[in-house]
Amino acid sequence: MERNARLTLILTLAILVLPLAGRADERKQLAFDTIDRNAAQIADISDSIFYFGELGMQEFETTKLLKGTLEAAGFRVELGGADMPTNLWAEWGSGHPKIAIVTEVDALPGGSQKPLDFARAPLVPGAPGHMEGHNTHGGVASAAAYAVKQVMQRYNLPGTVAISFGPAEEQLASRPFIVRAGYFKDVDAIIYLHIGPVLATGYGLTNYAAISSIFTFHGKTAHGAINPWDGRDAVDAVELMDIGFDKLREHLHPTYRAHRTITNGGIQPNIIPDIGQIWWFVRDANMPDAKATYDKLVKIAEGAALMTGTTYDVKYAASAWPQLVNRSIAEAIQKDIDMVGVPAWTEEEQAFARDFQKSANRPVVGLRTKPEALGERHQSASSNDNGDVSWVVPAGLLNFPASVPGVEYHEWHAAVTPVSSISHKGQVAGAKVLVASIIDLLTSPDLLAKARAEFAVESKQTPYFSLLPADATPDVDLNRAEMDKYRPAMRQFYLNKTPRFD
Ligand SMILES: [Zn+2]
Repeated sequence: MERNARLTLILTLAILVLPLAGRADERKQLAFDTIDRNAAQIADISDSIFYFGELGMQEFETTKLLKGTLEAAGFRVELGGADMPTNLWAEWGSGHPKIAIVTEVDALPGGSQKPLDFARAPLVPGAPGHMEGHNTHGGVASAAAYAVKQVMQRYNLPGTVAISFGPAEEQLASRPFIVRAGYFKDVDAIIYLHIGPVLATGYGLTNYAAISSIFTFHGKTAHGAINPWDGRDAVDAVELMDIGFDKLREHLHPTYRAHRTITNGGIQPNIIPDIGQIWWFVRDANMPDAKATYDKLVKIAEGAALMTGTTYDVKYAASAWPQLVNRSIAEAIQKDIDMVGVPAWTEEEQAFARDFQKSANRPVVGLRTKPEALGERHQSASSNDNGDVSWVVPAGLLNFPASVPGVEYHEWHAAVTPVSSISHKGQVAGAKVLVASIIDLLTSPDLLAKARAEFAVESKQTPYFSLLPADATPDVDLNRAEMDKYRPAMRQFYLNKTPRFD
């Protein structure tokens, strides 16, 4: 009897639970079918952006394409918010939960390269190009948001799905402004999207805090031989600031990083320079420590000015909090990663990757055939200004496998593969994981509550503060001259496609 009762109970529970589980799978299956059906459109978007090759704050063709694609797919699109003409925010739906994809689409100076060519072969010599693969973010984010919309419509899910394409990530130049403008105030969670050599997520602090400022010293000019005693040498102040910081290095925590470039070192030796300029980056594993080092750097500038009888001013250039990635969201993303898996690479793709690694003098390991396990990620000393977003809203992180392992970004080799079949297949896998994880966040109040509770503790331990001076405005002229110089020659490579999701 007892045994029969237990069996009945189990059967009843199974009947209650199974349809729910089935429905969840059904929703994700609809999303995956939508992504697969739109694989060509994803590639068209990402490949088009590759050939636009636009630098930060100059992403005009890129955002025009994304705006057109997303509007045609039914999204409300705002271009130019937070006083940045290429800042794009798109959303569909209404109310909560509100889940946003956060990513960027800018290229790098000097990155122009003919795809699939193992030798250095710029499409336009000297021109910018995608040697990190941010072009792939456009297709993946748009298609994932579209697939979420399809699922929300079919299953009557409440809430909002949004995308934030922030300008000029490569110069850490926009996210503090987007946060200050309040875009994330009513967002419940974000997933930060970035290309990688692996399919992976992570949690904790995944990269570094950074503060970038330009110090300009003002002196008094004079003839270097006739009356140098009348001069106040602004470049002496630059040198003393550099030496002063070198004396400080020994007394900083080993986690710090600091690097500088002298952007104005005088005119010629027989003119005492009345202007000298030095541009600094200060970084650390967390923002309070980076800020403490930065405050010392400002004191050193004061000292250098005092020693040389000059004055100085500081211009905020950029800043980034380290990415704080939520463990609860990471665990949900990891389940989706394990469900989707890495793409089935063909033998040709593996051979291509090995040949490429060999020719680029990297370990010949081919493409990864398994996703990264959760917890394998270490904190990187690089920075990304989307870090600021992760301190005002719980954040997840997704890297999708659209580049070749061992080929590091920010050099031309990384521009060889962003429009390859490897990249295209990696983008499809990325879009599937992304859409699945957004569905999780939209449909699981428990997951959101857990993520919020975790975020509340972490953001209380280290409360967010903006590094932006109150009067700071975005540098919308950033890269304008460089882009204007090369754009006419780059136009001949535009794909002129009008991708439309179906
Ligand atoms: Zn990047």
